[in-house]
Amino acid sequence: MKYISTRGLVPPVSFSTAIAEGLAPDGGLYLPAELPDLAPFLKDWESLSYAQLCEAFMAVFATDIDRAELQGIVERSYTKFDHADIAPIQKLSDDLFVLELFHGPTLAFKDFALQFLGNLYEAQIARTGNPISVLGATSGDTGAAAIHGLLGKTGVKTFILYPDGRVSPLQERQMTCTGANNVFPLAIKGSFDDAQAAMKTVFEDRVFAAEVGLSAVNSINLARILAQCVYYLSAFFRLPAEIREDVTFVVPTGNFGNVLAGWLVQRMGVPIKGFRVATNQNDILHRLFQTGIYQLDEVAPSLAPSMDIQVASNFERFLYYSEDCDSAKVREVISTFKQTGKYVFEDFKSDGISSSRTNDTEIGAIIKRVYERYGYVADPHTACGFTGLFDGPQLVLSTAHPAKFPDTIVESIGQDSTHPSLETLKARQIVKHSVEPTPAAIKAFMRAH
Ligand SMILES: *Cc1c(COP(=O)(O)O)cnc(C)c1O
Repeated sequence: MKYISTRGLVPPVSFSTAIAEGLAPDGGLYLPAELPDLAPFLKDWESLSYAQLCEAFMAVFATDIDRAELQGIVERSYTKFDHADIAPIQKLSDDLFVLELFHGPTLAFKDFALQFLGNLYEAQIARTGNPISVLGATSGDTGAAAIHGLLGKTGVKTFILYPDGRVSPLQERQMTCTGANNVFPLAIKGSFDDAQAAMKTVFEDRVFAAEVGLSAVNSINLARILAQCVYYLSAFFRLPAEIREDVTFVVPTGNFGNVLAGWLVQRMGVPIKGFRVATNQNDILHRLFQTGIYQLDEVAPSLAPSMDIQVASNFERFLYYSEDCDSAKVREVISTFKQTGKYVFEDFKSDGISSSRTNDTEIGAIIKRVYERYGYVADPHTACGFTGLFDGPQLVLSTAHPAKFPDTIVESIGQDSTHPSLETLKARQIVKHSVEPTPAAIKAFMRAH
């Protein structure tokens, strides 16, 4: 299997190259050159365990990785989850289900991808002998999941920039209380955007990048999307057989990575009925799906902070397919949007995806209502999935454990949500490094460590 760029200006590459590069050299995102038809496999895959299913699925894509090596990578990736089903389904009523994606080490769905990516990197370093330095910027969950995915991995040093005082205290503890000597949380004075801008400039210095073996772990990496496809397959198999083809999957959405993974699974021949993109008050995608107009707005901080995003980078992958694999059209849309902050589609093809928007007041009310009606505690991101009228059976993807957001939970239902792993963190020492948000300061810190 070869991998192409959405922008179509570079030759196809292998799986390992696409993963190691992250972003394609023409600025596009990697996708499989052709999407395989999974329908013939479904009967055999239905009875597999989560790890077996992941291995079978990945083997279709990671064709340049030896199968025994792939098996080891996958097995190691799901050992730190605290539920035997890895991605269990809770039934709230006959036609309302929750897919819990928060049983990994940092209690958010990003662990599915970053545990896997950490093991892929480790295997790649063992093969090539070249150590790498991972640099990322985070507003919370991604940094914690990346740090835990790369913790203690031979040949990997991890540097994560975050805005000091602007991530939640528990998210900060997940990044800074690991005790690992290959992890460097870098607290910067400034906003997430300052951190992100400084990081991008560091990546543009090709000499420095080569010197330290620079690598990125943001959600544009195709390995993350593919690892997320697996829980859509697993969920489809675990839903009651008589209704599973009628169930709409509702996905709390920020960067469009999660829902894209599900939509790809559907496109590969798995008969999922459809998807709903559930945004918070940062609703660029909801507006797009309702009106066909993709228009930038200011980011307004919300109770569901991991979805406080305006430019959804993975939307470019959806665009590539919805424009019939026309790379020139993708380039036109992206460059117009970059220059003017807006693109008006003449006939936007939503392809079975609907959308909703939930503001902060509604988030609190929904947490309360879901708790009262079903005895279930939803975190603020998951709450966005419960918005609106239910039209037929729904599976809401729960992207984080409520204990990560204790203030909102107490305010909504009058009682605490806790998790043992977070309680342990509170007793540990915080180790973080203060760095100026300038490319020079970041490079100097990385060289020194
Ligand atoms: C990252 C994140 C999201 C958004 O997922 P995308 O793939 O960016 O759409 C939603 N909920 C939580 C808890 C997250 O950490």
